[in-house]
Amino acid sequence: MELWEMINRQGMQFISLDTWLREGIDIAFSTRIGGVSKGVYNSLNLGLHVGDNSDLVLENRRRWLSIFGAGLDDMVACEQVHGSEVKRVNRMHRGKGARKLSEVILNCDAMITNEPGIYLVSFYADCIPVYLYDPVNRAIGMSHSGWKGTMQKISVNTLLAMQQEYNTGIEDVYIFLGPGIGPCCFQIQPDLLAKVEAEFNSFHDIINISENNLITWDLLETSRQLLVQAGVNPLKISACNLCTACHEDYFYSYRRDSGNTGRMGALIGMKY
Ligand SMILES: [Zn+2]
Repeated sequence: MELWEMINRQGMQFISLDTWLREGIDIAFSTRIGGVSKGVYNSLNLGLHVGDNSDLVLENRRRWLSIFGAGLDDMVACEQVHGSEVKRVNRMHRGKGARKLSEVILNCDAMITNEPGIYLVSFYADCIPVYLYDPVNRAIGMSHSGWKGTMQKISVNTLLAMQQEYNTGIEDVYIFLGPGIGPCCFQIQPDLLAKVEAEFNSFHDIINISENNLITWDLLETSRQLLVQAGVNPLKISACNLCTACHEDYFYSYRRDSGNTGRMGALIGMKY
């Protein structure tokens, strides 16, 4: 189990893992600190699709990628449709979705690569970012796992895609589960509870029902148990349990802000 840390660099603060950085894996989850956007997007909004001024978003993206010496042409972004498709990307895809929404990789929520110098990027305001790293075959993955993606086991699909494409051994893979909406704040209705219980009937401690019959679902813990069930070594899974809805100083939250908010970015790339 590796511990995450909050790193300050070039006026920005981001969450990272020193153990991965030392192996040449650039990994970060941004906070809202250190950008140029205003109002509800204050300040490091990285989402082009949320109504913010796109020139400001591109400046934020440039700043953020620069923490690793990268630029817009080094990143690739996907559409994020809350689905279960995984895309293998290579240097041909560099820059896709960096400047224009219309250029993202369509109909896809996860990306994998084994090529250095490509930054897999996705955007968040409560969903769970799942980072994957295979140190044996030098391959990485990034999986956008909101509640719909979690129901469709997107993180396991990403793992299996790495196994198929790069001969990744499931037991070799390291996982980092980034910040998302926590069990303190992710309240759900009885109809969704029924689906969660049907899908994850062998899981433990993922649902809490309070004395007032408020139902909450632990998305991060669900992803953790999904990955362990798929064969990932539990000792190789680490997580940041900060709740995006609880920490307004650090994070945008779709739930807390009633949809009118910015996006954090999750990024992973191999230096070599
Ligand atoms: Zn919370």
